Amino acid sequence: MRVHNFSAGPAQLPLPVLEQAAAELPEWRSGMSVLEASHRGPDFMACAADAEATMRRLAGVPAHYRVLFLQGGATGQFAAIPMNLTARADTVAFIRTGQWSRKAAVEAARMGVEVRLVADEAASSYTTTPEPGSFTVPAGAKYLYYCANETIGGVTMPYVPAAEAAGVPLVADFSSMYLSRPLEVESFGVVFGGAQKNLGPAGLTVVIVREDLLGRARPDVPLVWDWQAMADNDSMLNTPPTFSIYLFGLVLHWIEDTGGLAAMGERNDAQAQRLYDAIDASGFYANPVEKRSRSAMNIPFTLADPALDAEFLAGASAAGLMNLKGHRSVGGMRASLYNAMTDEGVTALIDYMTEFERTRA
Ligand code: PMP
Repeated sequence: MRVHNFSAGPAQLPLPVLEQAAAELPEWRSGMSVLEASHRGPDFMACAADAEATMRRLAGVPAHYRVLFLQGGATGQFAAIPMNLTARADTVAFIRTGQWSRKAAVEAARMGVEVRLVADEAASSYTTTPEPGSFTVPAGAKYLYYCANETIGGVTMPYVPAAEAAGVPLVADFSSMYLSRPLEVESFGVVFGGAQKNLGPAGLTVVIVREDLLGRARPDVPLVWDWQAMADNDSMLNTPPTFSIYLFGLVLHWIEDTGGLAAMGERNDAQAQRLYDAIDASGFYANPVEKRSRSAMNIPFTLADPALDAEFLAGASAAGLMNLKGHRSVGGMRASLYNAMTDEGVTALIDYMTEFERTRA
């Protein structure tokens, strides 16, 4: 039986994509598996070009932006961003809304830049986001960085802080909401994220970078982290993660076939709303995030009695509802409802929660 997988990532993938990959695995183009094909051969080159073209079409990526297929995860970009956009001792501005923006700020500081926290939601224990216009970027900052969706806290920036960036490039970590709704690419200098939540398997990091931001890297940046070098080589400066790019392409076609990003956003919002409504209507479950900043992707919730957590999780697993345990740093539960989550999966989760509350609370 195929379960409903609420993991924060690697995450559930669309079943039609898995079925297609399984069907064509042994004899893909040229009678060999994509896993065995040369990245410089015509079959894989066409596959990678199609993935990029589909990404551009879906997200409306303008011609003056490059799409890079990299490795090293979003964590690799935490270092690559300052290495590509700053010199040592430059100043950068950060909005801190949770653990992933915190990690990115720590890594930027390790790369020798001065990190100015222009907004920090520590006072609310990272359950809020700063109001529009409530913060300013210091003069001379090289970019403004924020995390569009904090995967652990379940906190989404409810707006793109383009006006607040005040002319400096806006850099955003979209790891846990990439292509979950329409993306205003032109508001950003850099958008990046790992594929393993909304876009495909682990191993692929997708970076969208405005062309004028290329060529500013430090002279000692390792080549695989140099966006310009990667762009010049169509992301094939070295062997790319071929299988991950192939599967990413299948996922993109699936998104397109299901109606594109607007339809995806509506479906994601409807699923999340149903779960939030169930949590808010119960006297037993609670979500701590202020309503305007609630994530449609990652929904943490607690039980009124944490002593029941283990029983809740065991019963959920037995019902085919997997990976609901919250992040180890916060405890409780977390349901991740990425693009591939089905309406049936959300219904099954809500039914299980309602029954658990009725019999155990
Ligand atoms: N940023 C966010 C928002 C994430 O959720 C994650 C992974 N959970 C990361 C960065 C780190 O990504 P990776 O593991 O691909 O380095």
